Amino acid sequence: MSIIQDLEQMRDEAVGAIDTATDLSALDAVRVAYLGKKGSLTSILRGLGALSAEERPAVGKVSNEVRQSLEAALGARHAVLDAAAMQAKVSADAVDVSLPGRRRLPGREHLIEQIRREVIDVFIGIGYRIAEGPQVELDYYNFEALNQPADHPARGLADTFYVRDLSGDEAAVTGESDVLLRTHTSPVQVRVMESEKPPIYVLAPGKVYRRDVADPSHLPQFTQIEGLVVDEGITFADLKGTLDHLCKEIFGHDRRTRFRPHFFPFTEPSAEVDVSCGICAGEGCRFCGGTGWLEILGCGMVDPNVFGYVGIDPERYSGFAFGMGVERIAALKYDLPDLRMLVEGDMRFLRQF
Ligand SMILES: [Zn+2]
Repeated sequence: MSIIQDLEQMRDEAVGAIDTATDLSALDAVRVAYLGKKGSLTSILRGLGALSAEERPAVGKVSNEVRQSLEAALGARHAVLDAAAMQAKVSADAVDVSLPGRRRLPGREHLIEQIRREVIDVFIGIGYRIAEGPQVELDYYNFEALNQPADHPARGLADTFYVRDLSGDEAAVTGESDVLLRTHTSPVQVRVMESEKPPIYVLAPGKVYRRDVADPSHLPQFTQIEGLVVDEGITFADLKGTLDHLCKEIFGHDRRTRFRPHFFPFTEPSAEVDVSCGICAGEGCRFCGGTGWLEILGCGMVDPNVFGYVGIDPERYSGFAFGMGVERIAALKYDLPDLRMLVEGDMRFLRQF
């Protein structure tokens, strides 16, 4: 009866393997190994034909019992492992309600953009429109047509970034470049006057570039806003009224302005505009250097020579222009000691605005 012993030994091995299977796929492998088409039980039963007619019923009975007990053991182990798998899945998916949430800070405009928009809003409100020009500009628009020909002392090479063609053309590499990063937004004035007829009321905001080392009061790249008006009968009084309106809108209606004579090549007469100090109200303090005033922008009446470059009749038309640095206005409005704070991206600082 060695075949019955084989069956019983196989059953004991199989039950041991079933009880130690640690997950459902291991359990299924055990099932295939013993009960599958090529499994152990099947191959033992294949030897049944060699038995005598007396032996067969007893062996058949034992093999049925073995099969039933293995199926029962498999079923029981399956139930245990299935429950464990479900429990593991539930624990893995559980939400720990005691964990702190992830904070998402709402986005906001950078202070430079806020000031830029404030200034734009003031001028849109009195009928100006926005004009734009290229940041990589021709010498002609940046200097020459603004009344600064090649030998003009005001266009010193010191603070201009020139753009050179390095494609291999020897003459282009060594020669003087007439392409540059604009040093101010004033070339937009020329482009507008070239392409449009008066009346012109435009505002040109944009980035400008100077070969300066960043320090508390200088940045090599900053934002300027240029204004230009050309119409019949425009006087210096219009310029004063416009810029006084701007200062009161930006800094507050209790602030006063004053105009000091100055020089710019493309305006005549020219002036610098100061706004009364918001900290000492004009008494004089450390912020305003004891003067009671803060310089905020440059301006003037468009020089008739500039009208000559763009074909506008200076006998019929007059105009004014002004330009301001957005970063400087931000610094004055919020009492910032260092312009670099605006571009360093420190969120602890920027979130305050
Ligand atoms: Zn002051």
